[in-house]
Amino acid sequence: MRTTTGLRAIGPDTLRRVPLERRDLRPHDVAVRVDYCGVCHTDLQALSQYDPRAGTPLVPGHELTGVVSETGSEVTAFTAGDRVAVGNIVDACGACAMCTAGQENFCHSFPTLTYAGTDRQDGTTTLGGFSREYVVRDAFAHRLPDGLDAAAAAPLLCAGVTVWEPLRALGVGTGTRVAVAGLGGLGHLAVKLAVALGADTTVLSRTPDKREDALRLGAGDLVVSTDEARMAAVRDSFDVVIDTVSAPHDPAPYLKLVAMDGTLSHLGHLGPVTVEVMDLLVGRKKLSSAGSGGRAGTAEMLDFCAAHGIVADVEVLPSAQVDTALARLRRNDVRYRFVLDMADLDRAPDGELDRR
Ligand SMILES: [Zn+2]
Ligand SMILES: [Zn+2]
Repeated sequence: MRTTTGLRAIGPDTLRRVPLERRDLRPHDVAVRVDYCGVCHTDLQALSQYDPRAGTPLVPGHELTGVVSETGSEVTAFTAGDRVAVGNIVDACGACAMCTAGQENFCHSFPTLTYAGTDRQDGTTTLGGFSREYVVRDAFAHRLPDGLDAAAAAPLLCAGVTVWEPLRALGVGTGTRVAVAGLGGLGHLAVKLAVALGADTTVLSRTPDKREDALRLGAGDLVVSTDEARMAAVRDSFDVVIDTVSAPHDPAPYLKLVAMDGTLSHLGHLGPVTVEVMDLLVGRKKLSSAGSGGRAGTAEMLDFCAAHGIVADVEVLPSAQVDTALARLRRNDVRYRFVLDMADLDRAPDGELDRR
């Protein structure tokens, strides 16, 4: 086993800096020195639900970037020193219809998650990127293109690809009318990507205070979703609505904005919703969802971002301030993604985190 340092849950919403074990490299593994890891809503959720009595370890983090430090004997795609990125899946069966189609994120036997997943070979629980080192199968390490800032690129690996895949699958391009509901971690990347794809992009937000940001990100307009007159005025006017709102909510107001034969992609909140079929019938509208990405889609997204200079808007904090990042994310007080800088994990583990 290899030893590194990481942030492990010791109770609900409580992380501690501790030594962690990583597996010895298999022939197709690479060891990654983790430099940065984004903080995602999934991390908040996993931490709030963590029960130490269950006996499974929890180390969150699935948007990581870093540098290859060592390669297994059969690895040819990477050498030590290469910049890489790892997202929220680290393995899949490789044989089912979804894997064959390049959508390992939809693997029929469920992809191995970057943390709180079960390793397909040894059955151990995977430990995430809130750590100074990650060991990953080479096929699930993505080359980080030159020119992308390693800290600001980290959120592309979960938030970015989650909005990229539906934008691509729905054929968003020049002149497509796209609305993005919710301007947070997912939403701000959806706006940047849609704009770069050539879409005519509008932000839907509950309040007008993000108007300036929306326009700076490239949106043509911000519609306040609580303003009934404005919402009525944009009825049936978007080919694609990307709904990134993470709290449970009624999709009906957004469905009304979808143009004939258009699609609402409901991807911020992953739980039951109630849909009035008449809201789909009138206008032949479609309701869809998406999450994470396949290996090919992730690589394509990273290349697109490099070509268009797209990274997340981030606030970088030393990993010792993870509690601050989590508390502020919980109240949506971030524009637009926290990224933890893992360099401070090189200090000896002391079990204490700064609390402020
Ligand atoms: Zn995530
Ligand atoms: Zn599969």
